[in-house]
Amino acid sequence: MATIVQKYGGTSVGSTERILNVGRRVLATQREGNRVVAVVSAMAGVTDSLLKLASEVSEDPTEREMDVLLATGEQTTIALLAMAINHMGGKAVSLTGAQAGIATDGEHTRARIRNIASEKVDALLDDGHIVIIAGFQGQTADGRISTLGRGGSDLSAIAMAAAVKADRCQILTDVDGVYTCDPRVVPNARKIEEISYDEMLEMASSGSKVMQSRSVEFAKKFGVVFEVCSSLNTNPGTIVMEEKPHMEAVVIRGVSLERDQAKVRVGNVPDQPGFASRIFRAIADAGIIIDMIVQNTSEDGVTDISFTLHKNELVKAKHALAAAVEGFAAGDTRVTSEEGVAKVSVVGIGMRSHSGVAADMFTALAEAQINIKMISTSEIKTAVIVAEADVENASRVVHDAFGLGA
Ligand code: ADP
Ligand code: ASP
Ligand code: MG
Repeated sequence: MATIVQKYGGTSVGSTERILNVGRRVLATQREGNRVVAVVSAMAGVTDSLLKLASEVSEDPTEREMDVLLATGEQTTIALLAMAINHMGGKAVSLTGAQAGIATDGEHTRARIRNIASEKVDALLDDGHIVIIAGFQGQTADGRISTLGRGGSDLSAIAMAAAVKADRCQILTDVDGVYTCDPRVVPNARKIEEISYDEMLEMASSGSKVMQSRSVEFAKKFGVVFEVCSSLNTNPGTIVMEEKPHMEAVVIRGVSLERDQAKVRVGNVPDQPGFASRIFRAIADAGIIIDMIVQNTSEDGVTDISFTLHKNELVKAKHALAAAVEGFAAGDTRVTSEEGVAKVSVVGIGMRSHSGVAADMFTALAEAQINIKMISTSEIKTAVIVAEADVENASRVVHDAFGLGA
């Protein structure tokens, strides 16, 4: 008997009708002769509504209580799905993250999974149950409820697949798989049949929210092969797995876009050891995650440093920097910022062995009269910052330039 872990995201369980559909699908999978674990998200929009409620009662909600609140979203879905399956004549049981043995560290709202004690899940499966597990949540060593960061049900499913040594792990969502770009932005984007962990990871962390990036990291570390496919049809999806030699023949696998970015420039920074450290220490101590960093070559003993971050972190970053630059020797160190920017990235392991990717990308943007505000590269990614208003057009022209469209 094969063990299958299926994860159903928010849209796939977004109404009671959809939950009934998922119930039928899960039951059918079991009746084909499999042991089935279903990991589910909160119904679409519920996590956002819970966050909004919290913001209405507190500007700075206690993180412990935030997790107690957020975990209720998934708890609603597991109960409804188990009820639906039982009503259909199946035998299902729902488990919260804690009941399923998901142990995490104590970092509320972004906890990491420490280990999964899957004995209870295994026993329920052995007993013929369909096991429905609340995604996105776990329990700290001292019994507090924790959550795993936005999109964290992907991580719950992949970690659970590793724990129960699943034969298959499927991430069922509202698109047919991983596309060469978000199909909502680039209508001629194509479904990718196979993608390496590294490419999926770069795409996820540069804005392709179809998978949570931490879940891909986990899958790579523990060798969990998984399929991203639709919960609404049975079309083959995208297999995410270890790189194979033929994969490098494709130079660009996909294009990602990330909105809601902001750019900060610290000008007139003394060009001496220790100043970059002071700037980024202040940012790190404020708990802010940053993305691209660019330092100019220095002139007359001063330089300037720019970086990007999510726009929601901008006010906090400016506060942290104001305090940090006060002590700088060059009295006219200045912090300026720009909102309304976004990032477009091209990703592909073939970039390691092919030249000209950056040139082709920048030419496509130039021909579309799109200005590049910042550039960064890694071994398998080239990314640019552009005006938010240009991001969709930029994604389309770059996607076309690499011949990715259908
Ligand atoms: P779920 O609720 O199932 O977790 P998400 O909304 O998190 O679903 O992810 C699915 C969405 O990801 C799609 O509706 C699509 O708009 C978006 N998306 C972004 N980039 C891509 C991509 N490269 N391929 C497929 N979908 C993408
Ligand atoms: N419900 C959580 C979120 O919206 C987790 C998830 O859906 O994966 O981020
Ligand atoms: Mg998701």
